[in-house]
Amino acid sequence: MKSLLTKMFIATTILWSATSVATEASTKGRVFLTFDDGPINATLGVLDQLKSENVKATFFINAHHLHGTGGEAASHATEALQRLIADGHIIGNHSYDHMAHNNRPFDPERIIVGSYKQVDEELSYFEAKNKGPIKEVLGEGYNRSNNQINQMARLPYTNNWRLPGLTIDCPCCTLDKIDIVKVVSPTGACPVKTKSSTNAIKLSDHFADNDVRVFGWDIHWGPTNWAVKNVSETLQDVEELIEDIDAAFADKSCATEKFIPIINCQAPPRNGKVIVLTHDFLFENSYRGNGKDVNLPKLSLLIERLREKGYMLDTLDNYLN
Ligand SMILES: [Zn+2]
Repeated sequence: MKSLLTKMFIATTILWSATSVATEASTKGRVFLTFDDGPINATLGVLDQLKSENVKATFFINAHHLHGTGGEAASHATEALQRLIADGHIIGNHSYDHMAHNNRPFDPERIIVGSYKQVDEELSYFEAKNKGPIKEVLGEGYNRSNNQINQMARLPYTNNWRLPGLTIDCPCCTLDKIDIVKVVSPTGACPVKTKSSTNAIKLSDHFADNDVRVFGWDIHWGPTNWAVKNVSETLQDVEELIEDIDAAFADKSCATEKFIPIINCQAPPRNGKVIVLTHDFLFENSYRGNGKDVNLPKLSLLIERLREKGYMLDTLDNYLN
């Protein structure tokens, strides 16, 4: 996945808050760990690990797991969602079904075809369809401040950002049909916005108009080989990831992914911050496989190495602080 990774940002000194979950007295910058596509069985192992490390993270939720339609047991998802809130992690909106009602996967570049067919219909998958089941499971917990489902969203497959003072679009992140050769040049430039990505941009605008912050990511901590049976086994090595994070803070190279234009990494509100995207499913021993025993220790090592280097681990509700 290295070809999809990017590097951004410079280090900056951040004032330390006594209420923060990290323990460093000063920091070279803030790293935001984000986990997408849960809650699932694997989320429980991630939560155990984060608790033992005294780290809070941000989780972007697909509520279809609560109905058991995401490939795993509804009981696991329900327990994981309740624990996410009880443990004080932040949850945000990632749509009900990750656009599964529309899209078709297109190998070899992991480009997704036809995710966003029309705006109003897709919006419903972020609104009542996603929020309703979450509210049902959480009950009174739905009103906890760490439930940010109404304030924070990440669009599946699409690295768009909408923060005060910052708009980033990804005009070719999803395609309408399998004609990537025509749409995307060999250099990765995207001369024509696809309809699917244009709809995702409209959705992002809608969220921004309604004071919902849309978060993309700077670095993807993912499998290095999607072609093997158990992709979890190929999760990028921690030391390589640390190099990417170091480079993102130290470099001025701010291309996030190949379909996104280079922007000024030193401009607020992104300076001194790196958002790392990873996925709950990489940390389990079933389904997509063999990640728990291998990758939970990697998560622990990542946290240890980030702290050693003086980075502060933070959650996205604090991103603009
Ligand atoms: Zn996702």
